[in-house]
Amino acid sequence: MRPVRFAYARPRTAEEAVAELQRHGPQARVVAGGQSLLPLMYQRRERPTALVDLGTVEGLRSLHRDGDALRVGAMTTHRAIETAAGSEVHGFRVLPETARLIAHLPVRVRGTFGGSLAHADPLAEWCLLATLLDAEVTALGPAGVRTVPVTEFLLGDGRTALGWDEILVEVRLPRPAPSAALVEFGWQEGSLPVVAAATEVELAPDGSVAAVRVAVSGVADRPVLLPGAEKVLVGAGSGEQALAAAARSLADALDPPGDAWAGGAYRRELAATMILRSLRASVTRAGLSAPARTTLQEASR
Ligand SMILES: Cc1cc2nc3c(=O)[nH]c(=O)nc-3n(C[C@H](O)[C@H](O)[C@H](O)COP(=O)(O)OP(=O)(O)OC[C@H]3O[C@@H](n4cnc5c(N)ncnc54)[C@H](O)[C@@H]3O)c2cc1C
Repeated sequence: MRPVRFAYARPRTAEEAVAELQRHGPQARVVAGGQSLLPLMYQRRERPTALVDLGTVEGLRSLHRDGDALRVGAMTTHRAIETAAGSEVHGFRVLPETARLIAHLPVRVRGTFGGSLAHADPLAEWCLLATLLDAEVTALGPAGVRTVPVTEFLLGDGRTALGWDEILVEVRLPRPAPSAALVEFGWQEGSLPVVAAATEVELAPDGSVAAVRVAVSGVADRPVLLPGAEKVLVGAGSGEQALAAAARSLADALDPPGDAWAGGAYRRELAATMILRSLRASVTRAGLSAPARTTLQEASR
């Protein structure tokens, strides 16, 4: 099948892109890497009357430090993050590792960080990591720029806080998280995961857990931060037994819906395993001087 006919605009600036969206109305769509939108158009599950191509917009492909924070321009590709030099992602080494988990090289070369968040697939790795890292999403619309915490931006499967005439321009990751890790289980390499977990751990001098964050995807219609993680883990030891007990108890508190890919009980079991593996990796990293030296594969073995 071919997509239905559509108008096509190539704006030079983000403001022009917003103006094009307004000109063409609510049935127009922004296209970034096209890796999610175009397949949907070929299946005619999306029938935009116009495409506003962000590929010609200046200034949206960026990845740079801003004090402690990292700013990721909407059009930064998965591949650009995967291959970013150390100084650009210093303290955020989980970013290139996560990029490597996404799809296959041809998709990573075209697909974008902003497109992934705007597409809001509940299983998208960037959505999970952004949730763990308290990302702030900046959007530009006719009324100007606004910034939204990612937990208020992602509203469920394919739904975001973006208005039809707004574009996502940048995502800010406010603090480095040298211990952050993300692990996932999928049916095949390069596909979206069934369940994934992302964690961050700070250790006290005695090796107990001083601070922790745990986020999981594949258990709800968007990635969720587990509010019980601090209660279960802070003050506890960071050894295998303590981590396994915590992962079990956090997963047991989940009530994932089942679907054609995996039943609810199976997702809960996967969540326990993914949380444990990710916690192990984070603890290993937290125990090393920043930037942590171990690779995720070494830590989660
Ligand atoms: C074979 C295959 C395997 C894949 N595997 C994975 C995977 O393992 N993990 C994963 O996370 N993803 C996966 N994807 C999806 C891929 O990562 C996409 O790149 C990503 O979901 C969307 O990015 P994009 O730049 O291609 O966006 P597009 O496809 O261009 O757009 C997607 C949606 O977001 C909107 N949009 C895009 N950018 C903006 C913006 N700046 N402002 C407002 N709206 C915007 C578009 O209007 C559209 O509705 C896979 C895709 C394919 C084809």
